[in-house]
Amino acid sequence: MAVLWLDTIGSDDLDSVGGKGASLGELTGAGLPVPSGFVVTAGTYRSFIEQAGIDDELFEAVDIDPDDSSALADAEQAAEDLILDTELPDDIADGILDAYDEVGDGEAFVAVRSSATAEDLPDASFAGQQETFLNITREDLLDRVKRCWASLFTKRAIYYREEQGFDHDRVDIAVVVQQMVDAEKSGVMFTSHPSTGEDQIIIEAAWGLGEAVVSGSVSPDNYVVDPATAEATTVTVADKKVMHVKDTETGKTVERDVPDEKRNVRVLTDDEIARLVELGRRVEDHYGTPQDVEWATIDGEVFMLQSRPITTIKEQSTDASSARTAEATDGSGLEQERRGSEDVLLKGLGASPGVASGPVRIVTKLDQLDKVGEGDIIITEMTTPDMVPAMKRAAGIVTDEGGMTSHAAIVSRELGVPAVVGSGGATTQLSDGQVITIDGDKGTIREGSTEGAEEREPYEDVRPQSPVKPMTATEVKVNVSIPEAAHRAAVTGADGVGLLRLEHMILSTNKTPDRYIRDHGADEYIEEIVSGVRGVADEFYPRPVRVRSLDAPTDEFRQLEGGEDEPNEHNPMLGYRGIRRSLDQIGVFKHELEAFRRLFEMGYDNVEIMFPLVNDVEDVYQAKSLMEEVGIDPQKRTWGVMIETPASALCVDEMADAGISFASFGTNDLTQYTLAVDRNNENVANRFDELHPAVLKLIGNTIKACRENDIDTSICGQAGSKPQMVRYLVNEGVSSISANIDAVRDVQHEVKRVEQKLLLEAVRQE
Ligand code: PEP
Ligand code: MG
Repeated sequence: MAVLWLDTIGSDDLDSVGGKGASLGELTGAGLPVPSGFVVTAGTYRSFIEQAGIDDELFEAVDIDPDDSSALADAEQAAEDLILDTELPDDIADGILDAYDEVGDGEAFVAVRSSATAEDLPDASFAGQQETFLNITREDLLDRVKRCWASLFTKRAIYYREEQGFDHDRVDIAVVVQQMVDAEKSGVMFTSHPSTGEDQIIIEAAWGLGEAVVSGSVSPDNYVVDPATAEATTVTVADKKVMHVKDTETGKTVERDVPDEKRNVRVLTDDEIARLVELGRRVEDHYGTPQDVEWATIDGEVFMLQSRPITTIKEQSTDASSARTAEATDGSGLEQERRGSEDVLLKGLGASPGVASGPVRIVTKLDQLDKVGEGDIIITEMTTPDMVPAMKRAAGIVTDEGGMTSHAAIVSRELGVPAVVGSGGATTQLSDGQVITIDGDKGTIREGSTEGAEEREPYEDVRPQSPVKPMTATEVKVNVSIPEAAHRAAVTGADGVGLLRLEHMILSTNKTPDRYIRDHGADEYIEEIVSGVRGVADEFYPRPVRVRSLDAPTDEFRQLEGGEDEPNEHNPMLGYRGIRRSLDQIGVFKHELEAFRRLFEMGYDNVEIMFPLVNDVEDVYQAKSLMEEVGIDPQKRTWGVMIETPASALCVDEMADAGISFASFGTNDLTQYTLAVDRNNENVANRFDELHPAVLKLIGNTIKACRENDIDTSICGQAGSKPQMVRYLVNEGVSSISANIDAVRDVQHEVKRVEQKLLLEAVRQE
């Protein structure tokens, strides 16, 4: 049989109907209102390629050298042509069309979606295959089913499977065909609070079809509902400017303005909320865990479109790290407070939030990293990229040196490990095995353990923040430095990556670029970059990922193999780094650009290029012409500069003329260069003030100039995580803000608050 009806399948049928199909089958079987439909099984795809006799030809066509980009493109095309041009055997075509005729009397508009099977393989082996076709009629149905099948063979999916050694023959694909709900209202519902797990139901609702809510293109109303009474305790009515609807003539989904009389009107009635709550309870009872449900209404009837377990409850990052701290101060922490300051052994900067207790492991040489076990606290002069695996195992991290923007601070925040940096002398004043408690908010290191310090889960178990995110016109992105943190960063719901630091990837090879290229060749160096960036670009696709070309000061390179050849600089922060080094060592820089070119060729159109530490338009022209030399068309790509020196802030007009798409404030450097305060020098740390009027003036003027030139602005320095800076930037009209992983949620709320205030003021002035 070519198809299986949704009301006959469940989780046991995963292999033949894929994840999406099985979940819809479960809901239907549980008696929940799910739009009717069927699944073209994975077996049908198999029968098609085998009966039509194209299987061998297909697998041969995609068995190519994945590093040969033109072969990759040819393979994608060949697979698509073969699948689309081969007639469906009659029994299969009839099976699908007969089933369609039973849905809505043969006149239905249906949604056609691919549903991945072979769950034992990572998602990336299906990369690119997320096909969804909406409002399809009988005429186009078979073609769209075939297009879902062909999506198994996108360039990215072929590349991934070839590279990982997965057999193309091992992946199958099912296709869900389901009646479209021409929704009047739609949205999502969380049957428990998605970050705290509190017994609250959260519903988001907007007018029209659900894609607008799920994709985040409209701000939905937000209802917090008490499950005991099914009554909304808090209702936030959003200004819903647009809605997605079906065009009655073409049947296509189109975006329309919400009629004025409905824009600021509450979407859900009390009765509809009560009905949703009831359905939510039934779904939750069926699965036994809190659920994240997509729903839609038509003629007052509520339908469930999808349900997934909520995987974000009671996790760390902002919510849990503050919870951890609260525990330490409310409970056993009280005792700690009472004990006063005498047991504070050392103090530094609280660089990554949370409280952790554990035995000290002093690491002075890299070969001592093995001694760091789960639950230990790493004590070191300064972390290096080689330490990342040990940092993941550790309960906490303390360094002698470094500030809030040092490697230790950035990486521990991304890993969610509490950290105190710049303690002055932890490596000499603490001893191996001594049990201590560190507070990554207050920056203290105390003797002994604290019961309130929650045991840290191993890194892999760290779960994301809540997916309920406030919708903001100003985009809120996230900073990522190590590919390992990409998943944690992606599930924050950030609008993309505002800064991906390339140097952390290069440094993790433990060799300087020169040494790496000498030992392994340029191609391997390029591939190192390609694979690091891909990890992040895949996690975020299609959200943009802004990747910065190399910017490591020579003192960071010195710690690596080959570091002995680095120039000895008096003040590395003012020295041979960023674009000035790239334009001097053009060979190495071109390898980075070649990595970008390969990524674009592989279809990563969400990757953007950012150049660090530029001073003026001359730097920009040189970088641009090198992009062209390696075959990147600057007109077709999104690329821009960091504003990190006063010179660059003052010269942004000319850079706009040179074709940049964006300017992003690197306030860590902009502050140090504007105030002449070395960002890594503890002696002047109290003078490092990103909110200094001079820094703000440079930023404000640059935003103004960029707005006049239609250039996007952003911030990717640490200050983007600070509420005062967020308020300043949104008021000035910045286009996006990129924050640390643990700050994304707070920044989203702050941005929303400021935006609403601006709107309110504008209305009041009218
Ligand atoms: C900055 O200078 O603000 C920045 C984001 O770059 P880095 O911290 O890597 O110098
Ligand atoms: Mg910088």
